[in-house]
Amino acid sequence: MGENTGMSEHIPTVGFVSLGCPKALTDSELILTQLRAEGYETSKTYAGADLVIVNTCGFIDDAVKESLDTIGEALAANGKVIVTGCLGAKAGEGGGNLVRQIHPKVLAVTGPHATQEVMDAVHLHVPKPHDPFIDLVPAYGVKLTPRHYAYLKISEGCNHRCSFCIIPSMRGDLVSRPIGDVLNEARALFESGVKELLVISQDTSAYGVDVKYRTGFFDGQPVKTRMLDLCERLGQIAEPYGAWVRLHYVYPYPHVDDVVPLMASGRVLPYLDVPFQHAHPDVLRRMKRPASGERNLERLVRWREICPEIVVRSTFIAGFPGETEAEFETLLDFLREARIDRAGCFAYSPVEGAAANELPGLLPQAEREARRARFMEVAEAVSIAKLRERVGATMQVLVDSAPALGRKGGVGRSYADAPEIDGTVRLLPPEKASKTLKVGEFTRARIVAAEGHDLVGVPI
Ligand code: SF4
Repeated sequence: MGENTGMSEHIPTVGFVSLGCPKALTDSELILTQLRAEGYETSKTYAGADLVIVNTCGFIDDAVKESLDTIGEALAANGKVIVTGCLGAKAGEGGGNLVRQIHPKVLAVTGPHATQEVMDAVHLHVPKPHDPFIDLVPAYGVKLTPRHYAYLKISEGCNHRCSFCIIPSMRGDLVSRPIGDVLNEARALFESGVKELLVISQDTSAYGVDVKYRTGFFDGQPVKTRMLDLCERLGQIAEPYGAWVRLHYVYPYPHVDDVVPLMASGRVLPYLDVPFQHAHPDVLRRMKRPASGERNLERLVRWREICPEIVVRSTFIAGFPGETEAEFETLLDFLREARIDRAGCFAYSPVEGAAANELPGLLPQAEREARRARFMEVAEAVSIAKLRERVGATMQVLVDSAPALGRKGGVGRSYADAPEIDGTVRLLPPEKASKTLKVGEFTRARIVAAEGHDLVGVPI
């Protein structure tokens, strides 16, 4: 071919490593989208890259270590490293920047949610390619998750000050994204083939509090920046695509009651990820939890009256400083009575910089671990009993994996399972030999067994 193929022109390549939670993943996606829009190549390896970006996590000590190790690895393998993400915002001893103290050779360090700053640093060290391939970037951006599900971040930061958490000190107070932007992004994602949208934030029920529920616009129509309006609209937008909308990180405030009818009517999935953390009012108070004065059990009972299919996932902390045996027993009783479908539990572990470190009554690590184990025993019994109740039912399943067109079966998830954190539905070969399964499509399945945290179904 006679035209300039660019053979003499080196296309700059940026290695990208994404660590951390789904919220960090959406930051990574924004940066990757921008890089691709400007014509950079991206890769998952350090070798051969012109520089490496490490998106870090700084939430728990293990994650800090993993992030620092990865930065060290990238420096050794490549030498040119830009650090972004939660750990980048963390102070080290004496108040300086922690990452810079440990790895003084990094080129730049930013906190989370800093696409522009990261891009500025990239431009400085690896100039923009001459001819941006803007057209190569799909309208929905670059997603790191499989094509059929995507995370939608609706806000950044948090107004609460839970005593065990350092997120607000790293990410700042709540900043809600404009409702019009959020809804447009949702529609673009569905248009690009996304079948499941996972709404994330630090506190989804607080959406819009910072902007006093300001009225924004979507499709020329006014919409309030508020959880209920957001869920209604997302449900409407998802409907023509037959797609799911799943809500994460919802606190049990009274106004969430208004969202439950949307679940009953099928607008959003009857799935609530509510991080309760504990059930005893005194422990909740020491934790400084939002909605700690609410009657969580009564609230759950009411939600289930309105929408009996509702599935509740939650996380808890066992062995919080000062937790008495009686307080812990209250937590176990709550778990049994509330019949939490999916419960995760951490043994309390001090996080550097968290206010809870000052609380009296730190329990010995062995006791914290023992309580976690006791908790998980009850949680598993509840979860397994609930899963068994599904045997014989027919469920809609979103297919995540289906080798050979699913003739030998595959793996999917029902409305009760969020990707990566919950169980799955193991799909057996379809009942009819002519039926095939495809990743990212729905199938109906008759549930024939429960296996640990998973179900087994026959596609019909
Ligand atoms: S609600 Fe509490 S635990 Fe969650 S991010 Fe805010 S301060 Fe941290």
